[in-house]
Amino acid sequence: MVRGYDVLKHTNHAKGALVRQVIIIGSGPAGYTAAIYAARANLNPLVVASSVEAGGELMNTTDVENFPGFPEGIQGPDLMTKMQEQAERFGAEVLYDDVVDLDVAGPVKKITLGSGGTHEADSIVFATGSAPRKIGIDGEARLSGRGVSYCATCDGFFFREKVIAVVGGGDSAMEEATFLTKFASKVYIIHRRDELRASKIMQDRAFKNDKIEFVWNSAVVDIIGDDAVTGVVLESTVDGTRSELALDGVFVAIGNDPRTHLVHGKLDLTPEGTVWVDGRSSRTSLPGVFAAGDVIDPTYRQAVTAAGSGTVAALDVEHYLAALGEAGAPAPDVAEIDGLPGADEARAETAKVNAA
Ligand SMILES: Cc1cc2nc3c(=O)[nH]c(=O)nc-3n(C[C@H](O)[C@H](O)[C@H](O)COP(=O)(O)OP(=O)(O)OC[C@H]3O[C@@H](n4cnc5c(N)ncnc54)[C@H](O)[C@@H]3O)c2cc1C
Repeated sequence: MVRGYDVLKHTNHAKGALVRQVIIIGSGPAGYTAAIYAARANLNPLVVASSVEAGGELMNTTDVENFPGFPEGIQGPDLMTKMQEQAERFGAEVLYDDVVDLDVAGPVKKITLGSGGTHEADSIVFATGSAPRKIGIDGEARLSGRGVSYCATCDGFFFREKVIAVVGGGDSAMEEATFLTKFASKVYIIHRRDELRASKIMQDRAFKNDKIEFVWNSAVVDIIGDDAVTGVVLESTVDGTRSELALDGVFVAIGNDPRTHLVHGKLDLTPEGTVWVDGRSSRTSLPGVFAAGDVIDPTYRQAVTAAGSGTVAALDVEHYLAALGEAGAPAPDVAEIDGLPGADEARAETAKVNAA
């Protein structure tokens, strides 16, 4: 039986340009997992992977020990390379470019790339992730993954019986510090003021924990260490005096920003700043636009939850395209990309951009 989306493959709309079935923006676990599912459903997805940050947040880390299927752990970049290879094996095209503009209001969605090219599709998966806020000081980037971490769930296990600090004063800082006491021998919470933004219940939990010590009125102005963190330089926010604190690790917990700037004013957002989706689905406030991964997730933000979310998005895309087909929408003239007007040009454009 031919399903709706089978006849919609690379629909050639009236104007003769290639309109893809789906474009996936983002190449983290959410984007690549959506690509694996979409490619295996013969939707020939185009993945716009970013020009310099392809592979997403896990490219910035070393050991990933909590992604199922790798009992010995796996390096973050190796995991992302495997995901990309798996998506490409089934026909996903990966383009190393950035989406700089999106026109998603109508039935055909259009993206504009940093290189100047444009692509159109019947549906979009928006999987641009989120970025942990950085302190922006010396040593932070250099020692990231070498004692500087932005994720207690991910990295706490590596700090058994170590002395570490959490930087921040909100709920997530309290939660991370309390969680980290399961592993570390001592956890400092370094905060710029003498009171916390965190909710009362989270504060109380931290205050009651014997392993936690607060360092008040202090800003971290440098993270020190050659190959690994050995300490931080603190500056008093009261009198400007400086001191050093010896540490094995620093967890930065000062917030997280979903990468939503492309869709401001176009898609509904939640109060937390993530893209709004309908319940457990990936459906956004616009038909044909789906969102997945950390960009919709204010809470869990793990590789495996992002991957699961990418699966949801690909399945939602399939249902959407099937419904479009059943509604008898665009012309179902050819079922394969090869030979379609515009297909060779599109492939040539992908190769050109990737070679640049
Ligand atoms: C240092 C660190 C270590 C971590 N360690 C672990 C761990 O051990 N285990 C774990 O489960 N999780 C870990 N995480 C969390 C995990 O990395 C994220 O939850 C996961 O990567 C989210 O996947 P995502 O696909 O939603 O987004 P991301 O991985 O952030 O990927 C988003 C992608 O979209 C791209 N993009 C954004 N805007 C555009 C645009 N305009 N055009 C084109 N592309 C765009 C980005 O460049 C990026 O490639 C870690 C996070 C960090 C920061």
